Amino acid sequence: MGQRFLRRIRAASRRIRMARVIARGLQSRRHPILVQIVPTRRCNLACTYCNEFDKVSAPVPLDTMLARIDHLAALGTSMIDLSGGEPLLHPETEEIVRRIRSHGMLAGLLTNGYLLTRERIQKLNRAGLDRLQISIDNVTPDDVSHKSLKVLDQKLRWLAELAAFDVSINTVLGTGVGQNDDALVIAQRALSFGFGTSVGVIHDGSGQTAPLDSRQRELYRQLQGLGRSFYSHAHDRLFQENLVRGVANEWRCGAGARYLYVCEDGLAHWCSQQRGHPGIPLERYTVDDLDREYDTVKSCAPLCTVSCVHRVALLDAIRERPLETLERLSAADRAVGGQTPRTVKVLTRVFVTSPRRDLFRRLALRALR
Ligand code: SF4
Ligand code: SF4
Repeated sequence: MGQRFLRRIRAASRRIRMARVIARGLQSRRHPILVQIVPTRRCNLACTYCNEFDKVSAPVPLDTMLARIDHLAALGTSMIDLSGGEPLLHPETEEIVRRIRSHGMLAGLLTNGYLLTRERIQKLNRAGLDRLQISIDNVTPDDVSHKSLKVLDQKLRWLAELAAFDVSINTVLGTGVGQNDDALVIAQRALSFGFGTSVGVIHDGSGQTAPLDSRQRELYRQLQGLGRSFYSHAHDRLFQENLVRGVANEWRCGAGARYLYVCEDGLAHWCSQQRGHPGIPLERYTVDDLDREYDTVKSCAPLCTVSCVHRVALLDAIRERPLETLERLSAADRAVGGQTPRTVKVLTRVFVTSPRRDLFRRLALRALR
């Protein structure tokens, strides 16, 4: 009972901090909303579609990692996710999480889950981890990927029992990954544990999509409707529909400004699929770099599948074109027979169309400070 109460308190605190992230993101364009940082390039698996791992790299020394986290905090970053490779191979992952939290930022971890034990989950609780995402590709391991439900199910049970942080399970659809219906089985298992779910589209070596077949598109639509959070790009159904059909989307990619990918060498890149742009050492990255990259047009944007950058871009679209963007989200929901979520309706009325919207915005920002 005591532990359940503690988990509820932590979940409520996370929701308030996430509301602050959204409020800050809507107020200003001059800070990164999300950074993914690599504490080690090494991975204990070898998925054949992956271009983000090796078998030899040493972990980044703790002092170096902490200095990078401090610099990201100085840039005003709201959330940092540890990525890889496999970040749990870093011997001091929990120290890094602790430093992220000490700056008031949200701390996340993207993992294949293999190294999770009951003890490791408790250590991550104590470090203050906010969210953990496990990617699961298939129901049983195959030649492409060993990230399978069969292998990871016990880890999911432990997480359901012990984790004080949010857990979400990401599945993927696309050529060569699992059997088509595996993604649905995995998402339903995740929901049975009370976890969130998300679905991605497998991409090529530069982050670009290829059209899904008709069964995969149907599955993608079903999966998008399951377990999506309030702040999720899955609400932009028109965008998602283009993505799975391989049709170009019109959007502004804020990579390099609102989202950064910091590799193990400490270089800041647009994203994991566009490394080398701009490829500037993080310790020299300034607000001027953020301003420049915000305005840089990315030619890879129309067919991009990098969903965390889409999610960040949604806030900028709402800040720059609130009515048009909220109407677009609602229209897409109505077009498939759905309802505009009540929260979106209320927020639109209070903060966008009300004659007293400036007052309401000021009050909300003050309350979330
Ligand atoms: S587990 Fe993740 S990082 Fe490791 S090879 Fe597979 S996709 Fe790449
Ligand atoms: S559009 Fe942005 S997120 Fe997508 S591949 Fe290009 S730089 Fe990366």
